[in-house]
Amino acid sequence: MPKVNLKLLAFFMFPCWQKFSQFLLPNYCLLCQVNFAPDGLCEACEAELPWQQACCPICAEPLEVSLLCGRCLNHLPNFDQAIAPLCYEGAVKQLITQLKFSEKLACANVLASLLIKHLSQDKQFIKPDLLLPVPLHAKRIQERGFNQALEIAKPLAKALNIPLKHHFLYKKIFTLPQVGQSFAARKKNLKNSFALRGKLVGQHLGLVDDVMTTGSTVNEIAKLLKAQGAARVTVFAVARTGG
Ligand SMILES: [Zn+2]
Ligand SMILES: [Zn+2]
Repeated sequence: MPKVNLKLLAFFMFPCWQKFSQFLLPNYCLLCQVNFAPDGLCEACEAELPWQQACCPICAEPLEVSLLCGRCLNHLPNFDQAIAPLCYEGAVKQLITQLKFSEKLACANVLASLLIKHLSQDKQFIKPDLLLPVPLHAKRIQERGFNQALEIAKPLAKALNIPLKHHFLYKKIFTLPQVGQSFAARKKNLKNSFALRGKLVGQHLGLVDDVMTTGSTVNEIAKLLKAQGAARVTVFAVARTGG
């Protein structure tokens, strides 16, 4: 009787087992964890999502009416437009926190699908030539094991049918977490901390992140991309915090 290589057999059987276990254990909603939700969110939880009602058409800052915000009126950012359809609160905050700190990668697909749903309804949406995820420093990737922006950018690139370049833009300087810092401090902290491997002259680039706070990070990256010849930079974030 031929000798069976058990390691090899396990390697080929593992994907089958994954499919089988998914069949046996139905997918529950990532938010309420009660209702059956094969796509990640149940109908009740999806209906409760905090979609932005009005925002600045340039930087997506939540506002009472969709007019240019004070900051953009005063000084336009380096990116051309930011699209961030959800408010960073409640269910959305919960999904992003689960993704980043509990390694629930399924949340990245759900967050990307919400962004895709919004884009499919946006008549003014101009499709970029390619997507670049906002990079994390190698040390941070080592700590977390993945880059949440890349995990959201993957299904987004697939849905838009455009390339995703995830090694082109990188973070060369390790910076302290931005949380709790002032706008000026964030800007100073990020200065020259990103770098590019090559040029993308004349292209419309889509920069993907999970959540946009003050926009300092994407603004610093857009400055670099524009200096290297990018024609247009659109920021895609799932959610936006206030000012
Ligand atoms: Zn639910
Ligand atoms: Zn603005």
